[in-house]
Amino acid sequence: MARYRGSVCRLCRREGTKLFLKGDRCFSEKCAIEKRAYPPGVHGQGRVRFSDYGVQLREKQKVKRMYGLLENQFRSTYQRAAAMKGLSGENLLMLLERRLDMIVYRAKFAPTIFAARQIVSHGHIKVNGVKCNIASRRCDVGDVISLGDKAKEMALIIEAQSLPEREVPDYVAQEGNDSVTFIRVPSLDEVPYPVQMEPNLVVEFYSR
Ligand code: SF4
Repeated sequence: MARYRGSVCRLCRREGTKLFLKGDRCFSEKCAIEKRAYPPGVHGQGRVRFSDYGVQLREKQKVKRMYGLLENQFRSTYQRAAAMKGLSGENLLMLLERRLDMIVYRAKFAPTIFAARQIVSHGHIKVNGVKCNIASRRCDVGDVISLGDKAKEMALIIEAQSLPEREVPDYVAQEGNDSVTFIRVPSLDEVPYPVQMEPNLVVEFYSR
């Protein structure tokens, strides 16, 4: 599967906000946003005035990057959300929250969304007791997501679980250290987003 291979701190700097893509480094003074809070590139420190389109584009990029997706994956999720009943923007975020890699991240089995995807694709995660290596798998309410035997001893996972900065949200019910149940699709305000989300701007972007 194609993936972004560049600097993730650049993505935060482009969006002008912390997207928390690097685990505990994001909470330290080494964070690139703390040191250089302006967009990357030679014109990064110049004045920028966004058009309406620019505002919509930046919001779309921010959400896409926070979930660690590339454009094709993100757009196809949006199209599915738009075909559902209800508000397309909220549908989009809820579809993204139901992804297996996202639940692994929310459950604190991984320090970042990228690490969560790798843990899943390397076969360290079980869904309802069966190994699943499809990061984009959409989980259903009641699904039990657990660590495989090897994963329980992986330093990366043990460290992620001990990170004090993040809490496991209520809709991912913990059962011990190595298993969670996805007990409900969350509402927008239940999801612990680190920044203000405006999904209506994403809808406006794709509805042009
Ligand atoms: Fe890098 Fe994390 Fe800071 Fe973003 S929040 S700039 S990913 S250290």
